Amino acid sequence: MENTIAQKLDALLKLQEIDSSLDEILKTRGDLPEEVRDLEDEIAGFETRLGKFKSEIANLNTEIDNFKNAQKEGEKLIKKYKDQQMNVRNNREYDAITKEIELQELDMQLADKKINEARARIRLIEEDANRAESILNERNEDLKVKKNELSVITSESQSEEQGLIAEREKHIKKIEERLLKSYQKIRDNSLNGLAVVHVQRGACGGCFSIVPPQRQADIRERKKLIVCEHCGRILADVESVQPVHQRR
Ligand SMILES: [Zn+2]
Repeated sequence: MENTIAQKLDALLKLQEIDSSLDEILKTRGDLPEEVRDLEDEIAGFETRLGKFKSEIANLNTEIDNFKNAQKEGEKLIKKYKDQQMNVRNNREYDAITKEIELQELDMQLADKKINEARARIRLIEEDANRAESILNERNEDLKVKKNELSVITSESQSEEQGLIAEREKHIKKIEERLLKSYQKIRDNSLNGLAVVHVQRGACGGCFSIVPPQRQADIRERKKLIVCEHCGRILADVESVQPVHQRR
């Protein structure tokens, strides 16, 4: 079943009315939804960072454990060498073992140094983590407050909003897809959310550009879809107020 242009225009006007009411509702929420989203993103970022800090610390602790185990092995070796030194047959053997012991001791000193470095690194990471954690706690508090505010504002208009959404769902079935798409496109490009407007006082109701009288007459006939030459909005009708522009 084909709708006449007039019917299509009326359907679009009705859709515009619904969408404008929804816009009004969204406006009451202000920047809150965006602020909540931003906070949630920020919090997720901090949580990722804290996770990285934790795994870095875990790796460093494993490193420390490895060095400590190596040191224990070293101690055993040194003890073994010292026992061997008791039973050497000559000075040459004695010196060779002394050299081994010295090397082991150097290894153990090196391990001490590495362990201290790892511990210092852990302390630095812990400082960063503490800072991040306290910011994270603040952001979580902020988020709680904002979410609460938002839910209060949302609950005030929720039933109205749901009603409008349901009405919209039903209503758009009456509009052909192609027309709906161009409506949506014009609306997305429009700062005030208006895609369908009237000619008011001789001007486009969206961008206030003058609409010439002949064009107004065509629009009034409602025999074809006419868009504003300046802003592209659909001009559904001419408001019955006498146009100011009348040439003599
Ligand atoms: Zn316009």
